[in-house]
Amino acid sequence: MKGALRQRRWRQVRRGNWSGGWWRLARPVPSPNVGVRPAEVSVDLAVVHSISLPPGRYGGPFIERFFTNRLDLGAHPYFATLKGVEVSAHFVIRRDGEVLQFASVEARAWHAGRSSWRGRDNCNDFSLGIELEGLEGEPFAAVQYRALSRLLKSARQVWPLQEVVGHEHVAPGRKGDPGPGFDWARLQRRLRRMFRHDLN
Ligand SMILES: [Zn+2]
Repeated sequence: MKGALRQRRWRQVRRGNWSGGWWRLARPVPSPNVGVRPAEVSVDLAVVHSISLPPGRYGGPFIERFFTNRLDLGAHPYFATLKGVEVSAHFVIRRDGEVLQFASVEARAWHAGRSSWRGRDNCNDFSLGIELEGLEGEPFAAVQYRALSRLLKSARQVWPLQEVVGHEHVAPGRKGDPGPGFDWARLQRRLRRMFRHDLN
C-alpha cells in the first residue's frame, strides 16, 4: 500500500508538466484530425517538420486553422492546393517560441503520411510530430530550438523517445522538411545526447 502510494506520487511528479498527453506549457488547439494509436505501440520517435502558411509568411492564424479544418481557402491563392487535405501534428512551434498543441501525445496525429523508419512503416503510429513554423532551406529562430529541446526533454520523461529525425528522413524523395536550414547539431547540443542522432 505504501509502495503503491509512493509510486503514484512519483508518477505525478514525473508527469508534472503533462496531463493526459497534453503539455501544460503549450496552448491547446484540439484538432479533429487524430486517431487512436495501435495497441502495444510505444512512442519512441520524434519527427520534426516545417510549415508556414502561406509559404514563407510567418505569424498568421493560418496554420492553426489548417490543422483544425477551418482554413478559408479563398484567403490566399496557395490555399487552393490544400483543399480537402486533413492533417495535424502534435505540436507547432511558432517563430516567437510559442508552442501550440493540436493532439494529445497519446493520440495518433496525421503528420508523417506515407513514411518508414528503420524498417517500420507508418511513422504516425509510433511518433510524436512537431512542426516548426518556417520554410525549407531557411534558418529557424533561436527560441524555436530552445522550445523544441525543452519540449523533447519533457516528453522523454513520459514516453520512451529514443530518436529525433526530420520528415525528410522518414519520407525521402517525397518530403524535404525541415530542410537544410535546420541545424541538427545545434539541436543535438541542446539535447546533450539524450537522443540517437545517426541520420545516415
Ligand atoms: Zn512535414
